[in-house]
Amino acid sequence: MDFDRIKEKLSILADAAKYDVSCSSSGSKRKNTNKGLGDSSGMGICHSYTEDGRCVSLLKILLTNHCIFDCAYCVTRKSNDIKRAAFKAQEVVDLTISFYRRNYIEGLFLSSGIFKDADTTMERLIQVAKKLREEENFNGYIHLKSIPGASDELMREAGLYADRLSVNIEIPTKSGLKLLAPDKNHEDFMKPMKKVKNEIIQYKQESRIIRSTPKYAPAGQSTQMIVGATGESDRDIMYTSNFFYKNYQMRRVYYSGYVPVANDPRLPALGTQVPVLRENRLYQTDWLMRFYGFDVREILNNDYPHLDMEIDPKLSWALRNREHFPVNINRADKSMLLRIPGVGLKSVNKIIQARKFRKLNWEHLKKIGIALNRAQYFITCDSRIWEKNDYSSDRLKQIIIQNSASKFRKDTGQLSLFS
Ligand code: SF4
Repeated sequence: MDFDRIKEKLSILADAAKYDVSCSSSGSKRKNTNKGLGDSSGMGICHSYTEDGRCVSLLKILLTNHCIFDCAYCVTRKSNDIKRAAFKAQEVVDLTISFYRRNYIEGLFLSSGIFKDADTTMERLIQVAKKLREEENFNGYIHLKSIPGASDELMREAGLYADRLSVNIEIPTKSGLKLLAPDKNHEDFMKPMKKVKNEIIQYKQESRIIRSTPKYAPAGQSTQMIVGATGESDRDIMYTSNFFYKNYQMRRVYYSGYVPVANDPRLPALGTQVPVLRENRLYQTDWLMRFYGFDVREILNNDYPHLDMEIDPKLSWALRNREHFPVNINRADKSMLLRIPGVGLKSVNKIIQARKFRKLNWEHLKKIGIALNRAQYFITCDSRIWEKNDYSSDRLKQIIIQNSASKFRKDTGQLSLFS
């Protein structure tokens, strides 16, 4: 093996893969069998935090950064003058096994530019996963990128080897896709997603009857959207996410702030800041939809097509819907507790447990860990009213921003997802 060439390929193809953020995952139940290598059961992924809070690592690479397409937002586009490389399937297998044995990684995230056509590329991705599973008896985590336009048969095969499959929709609207990737067809993304969804359902049903039914993509499917490359509103982005969650059993939608990679009048200029805060607000909205019982239309609609960058979306909703507050912490049902700004999912569960034994007051709530700098204006409990709450919503927003600014004055700048 030419180690210098492999090293060079690794540096090119790992660098090219860094723009894909759709690699954190959890929920796979693949067990180590036959004294094989690795065990991805319950494990998350990829220098990233899993939903259960653990940080895990993946070998995250492209099979090749050659591509026949010219998507304007992508560093791998064919018109970009960059160094190109391609791994052979066996080289990726050898790298994965050798990194795994050295304890550098717990799995593989494999994506690719499109070699010749969708099926040829998908076949090579599957070849890597198949070799890992069948020849190396590798039971670690494998996340395979599904290539838009790949045939149903290949998508079926991919799910038998991979823990997770993902097709990146990239641009949230059809018009944006047409503008930036005119060679691509919206349907090419939908077809493999639909196939994966149907296979997941079918394999699950079969496994209830035949216990030996193999697992199909046990960690489900995910997708990624680029934020800020075109003029989509936050409403456009989140309505698209909502569509995927509802219709394609999507496990996760990832939001990736556009990193300017091209001098192109259709795109933000080189040097434009990556919209990190917007990305964070979209994730918060995503959580409100998935875990807090919000309908996306309550947060974003024709009157409010954009998220407020100054405050989190739950607080923004509460300030627009003051008639629902104050909420009595000792009596309200779970769905209403979840809507109080500054009260997270864990705190809600703790409140429900604790109030079985006593009426809760401010001190109890502080100990439970709710963010009183926000919550105090929206709740009552077994204490005197903290502060007279007859401010206008605009005034209250400013007070809360000031409170938060003083609380986090010494903050490191790390954005928290929720509280
Ligand atoms: S098809 Fe994928 S890899 Fe190729 S240019 Fe478009 S986004 Fe990049």
